[in-house]
Amino acid sequence: MKKTVIVTGASKGIGAATAILFAQKGYNVVINYNNSFESADILCRSLVSNGFSASIHKANVANKLEVDLMIKETLYKYGSIDVLVNNAGIAYQNLITDTDEVDFDSIIDVNLKGVFNCCKAVTSPMVEKKCGKIINISSMWGQVGASCEVAYSAAKAGVIGLTKALAKELAPSGITVNAIAPGLIETSMNANLSEEDIKDFIEGIPLGRIGNADDVANAALFLASDEAGYITGQVLGVNGGYVV
Ligand code: NAP
Repeated sequence: MKKTVIVTGASKGIGAATAILFAQKGYNVVINYNNSFESADILCRSLVSNGFSASIHKANVANKLEVDLMIKETLYKYGSIDVLVNNAGIAYQNLITDTDEVDFDSIIDVNLKGVFNCCKAVTSPMVEKKCGKIINISSMWGQVGASCEVAYSAAKAGVIGLTKALAKELAPSGITVNAIAPGLIETSMNANLSEEDIKDFIEGIPLGRIGNADDVANAALFLASDEAGYITGQVLGVNGGYVV
């Protein structure tokens, strides 16, 4: 039987690359999106027209009811959820003095509560099957903190704490929970960076380049594989050696 993966925030960037890779490896892929219907739809159509199994589902991960519905419909459609990749996220850069409560709450809502909502919703069906893989996309800024990214760094650090705690809680049920902490990855999230900014950043990266979405997708595929069966509660850095 085909395995099923839900990739949140798969309309573009890292999520889209992850959806493509899992589809190529034979998974049924649920492409979750929130605002970018067109990108999600084009991605889904291109996968299906190449003979892969994919569908799209709109849900704001910060909204529990929408997440619960997505999980319910996925179970109805495919029978099980084998892998959840919690990738949906938004960035926010500002001085703490210019970060108001609404900004802070929205970063935490999407980047941390969204992960909580999705993990919570898949737990019962995974526990019932006594297997499952949860992969949470954190950030190296959740490990070491970024100046002018207090809210984002806090949310991503929260994702690491959640991952470690849930790994312990779900291990007896045969479910692994791991996080990936990407470094600077070339996606629309970094569209605000100038060429000069990127050049400066690269000087600090031992591997001498910024990452691409496939670098992260490959790590997610590994953590979802049987070969990673004895790995849980870990944070896999995909950062070119920037944070070691
Ligand atoms: P991106 O290109 O901006 O894509 C973000 C994705 O998240 C989009 O598909 C977006 O979907 C989705 N999303 C945002 N809010 C959502 C919500 N409330 N509900 C559902 N989906 C939502 O960013 P990316 O670089 O691929 O980032 C993917 C993940 O990697 C994020 O968690 C990010 O924090 C993390 N990360 C990125 C980098 C980097 O350098 N790029 C580094 C470290 C970690 P819609 O457009 O449909 O709303």
